[in-house]
Amino acid sequence: MFGSENKHRPFQTDDPRLLPIADKVARQERLTSEDGLALYQTSDILAVGWLANQVRERMHGDVAYFNVNRHINPTNVCVAACRLCAFGRRKDVPGAYTMALEEAWRAATSGYTEAVTEFHIVGGLHPDLPLEYFLDLFRGLRERFPKVHLKAFTMVEVAFFAKRAKLSIRETLLKMKEAGVQSMPGGGAEIFAERVRSIICDHKIDGNEWLETARIAHEVGLKSNATMLYGHIENDEDRVDHLVKLRALQDETHGFQCFIPLSFHPANTMLEHLPTTTGMQDIKQIAVSRLVLDNFPHIKSYWQMMTPKVAQISLCFGADDIDGTVVEEKIYHDAGATTPQGLRRHDLIRLIKEAGREPLERDTLYRRVTRDETSFTVAV
Ligand code: SF4
Repeated sequence: MFGSENKHRPFQTDDPRLLPIADKVARQERLTSEDGLALYQTSDILAVGWLANQVRERMHGDVAYFNVNRHINPTNVCVAACRLCAFGRRKDVPGAYTMALEEAWRAATSGYTEAVTEFHIVGGLHPDLPLEYFLDLFRGLRERFPKVHLKAFTMVEVAFFAKRAKLSIRETLLKMKEAGVQSMPGGGAEIFAERVRSIICDHKIDGNEWLETARIAHEVGLKSNATMLYGHIENDEDRVDHLVKLRALQDETHGFQCFIPLSFHPANTMLEHLPTTTGMQDIKQIAVSRLVLDNFPHIKSYWQMMTPKVAQISLCFGADDIDGTVVEEKIYHDAGATTPQGLRRHDLIRLIKEAGREPLERDTLYRRVTRDETSFTVAV
């Protein structure tokens, strides 16, 4: 057993490859791609978790963030047919739906009584809906819920809207912003490596286009998140490459708020033969993300995909956020997720407290929220 001391507890590992990494973490030095690979390849999960927890506590102390949000998926009609997906449908098949605007606005209020601070809006790449439909959707939400933050549409969707509307990405984003969008979710990044992307989602924009769209979003003043879909046909090198590319863009723009590793759910997808990820893989992914993405303020363990139990444990392995109440989740439940559709605010607080952390309700921009039963205030 090898070890080194710090002021809290001794670092111990039975893998000598982790010792130089531990020294770098103690000195707050950036890890290399080789370090990232060593972290993925070691079986000493407790040592990796210990290191990630050092970074997490240095950045956030005991605080663990959550929010009270609601997902809205206006349509599942999609032209892309990604092999990784159980959500998208051709428009003429059973189960395909597209909400009328009134229906989407109504969905924003149904099923939850506490005031939500965020609408998280994503959907499929609909071949016929014009950009104006989405701009009207935002305007209607802003008018009806002026205090609720609109976090809407992934880089993939924005690139699709732009192409259909014959606008540049920048023009499209500016129109979305003008109609009320305040930030963007991080989906559609999947895995940037072309070898993998061409198999799991060959009709989506490629990795460089995803990064370029994120760059423009940050330039026009929209913060975003970033994701990585893992646990399918990618390898350790692909995951490290993905993280390092995100880190490089963040050095330039500082526009990413949060990184969310998403575990692949194979049920009902064209990759259904693949196994699901294990708890060890999920926990390690959180920890490696925290260690490699030194310039990302937050690492989220999305309880819908990780399960509430693994998300709770991950708060001691590098994560500082477990996402929100969600209320109604379609995308991962179509892919066989057995987690609840939504959790109540008090459920999230309990998960966090039992992990020994201090729950802090945040808005989308990570500002503290204080609330009573029917309204909330954001600290600015
Ligand atoms: S992952 Fe997104 S783009 Fe791909 S088929 Fe599903 S909804 Fe469409």
